[in-house]
Amino acid sequence: MRIFSGIQPTGRKHLGNYIGAITQYVAGQERGEAIYCIVDLHAITVAYEPPALRESVYDTAATLLAAGLDPERCTFFRQSDVPEHTELTWLLTSVTAYGDLNRMHQFKEKSAAQRELVSAGLFFYPVLMAADVLAYRAHDVPVGDDQRQHVELMRDVAERFNSRFGDTLVVPDVRIPEVGARIMDLQFPDRKMSTTGGSPQGTVYVLDEPDAVVKKFRSAVTDSGTDVVRAPDKAGISNLIEILAAVRGAGPEEVEQQFDGAGYGDFKTAVADAVVEYLAPVRERYQALRADEPGLERILAAGADKARSISADTVVDVRRAMGVGPVRTSG
Ligand code: ATP
Ligand code: MG
Repeated sequence: MRIFSGIQPTGRKHLGNYIGAITQYVAGQERGEAIYCIVDLHAITVAYEPPALRESVYDTAATLLAAGLDPERCTFFRQSDVPEHTELTWLLTSVTAYGDLNRMHQFKEKSAAQRELVSAGLFFYPVLMAADVLAYRAHDVPVGDDQRQHVELMRDVAERFNSRFGDTLVVPDVRIPEVGARIMDLQFPDRKMSTTGGSPQGTVYVLDEPDAVVKKFRSAVTDSGTDVVRAPDKAGISNLIEILAAVRGAGPEEVEQQFDGAGYGDFKTAVADAVVEYLAPVRERYQALRADEPGLERILAAGADKARSISADTVVDVRRAMGVGPVRTSG
């Protein structure tokens, strides 16, 4: 069982990333051969500052290591260190339908949010993501709910490749957590918590000070009712129930039972305290890891070597199947 997932270095990582993706990455190390990548080449598809990008890669690497990624038990690297991802992207464009890319929700949302350029990179984002996963012939892709459509697309790409050029790529399955797959912004509970599109008060960062976490939860937008129950017209409260359930590793119905009759104020305080406690060990470990940039570089470079030893073989096979370049044998 091979597992692959990528995470963007843009800005600081938030509670949605942590619950929806990062905890799954840590668990994946027990389940199979886990490969995780900081996708800096995805981050350049929207407006960004070059020095900040490099810093963000270190921030994200230290956060993931603090959360429990162990370079001895997984392959952990920076996407741009492995050029096979970009080569495979281009090769896969030949079996990617323009019409499918045009239907991607993420492209519609992110392109609408751009103030200046809507880059072609933003449009191609799902092809690069397909290449990320298919380069490793991964079986299992742990992601949050927002990435479901992109995994569907990469499955289509792999299937079209295999039927056009012969069985070469593995068609991967999506793995979405049962609880916490879509954590919403605390101020705008109809939008997902997001690295690039969120509201400052509605986004809880993994590295936020406890005071800031408490403040954000206390000011979370809720409805005018009083019952701590999930309902379609109670997006704010439903989100808080989901967060507490995920943090406790419990079901949302258990949270509803426990807070039956409690007011929103007490409930919000309980969620805030639970999240503070949940994130505290990560914050503590982060500082020392982040301070050692040469150490982070060494980990990422060793990870890139391991990653290349797998992805290079796939690219050789893909080129051969497609009739690109001279005849070569893999390995
Ligand atoms: P952006 O909004 O700019 O795309 P992001 O917050 O989605 O950034 P990514 O690095 O793109 O961050 O996503 C990393 C992982 O976190 C993905 O698997 C994604 O599905 C998951 N994820 C992102 N937001 C949430 C969320 N609000 N709830 C649960 N999982 C999430
Ligand atoms: Mg995203």
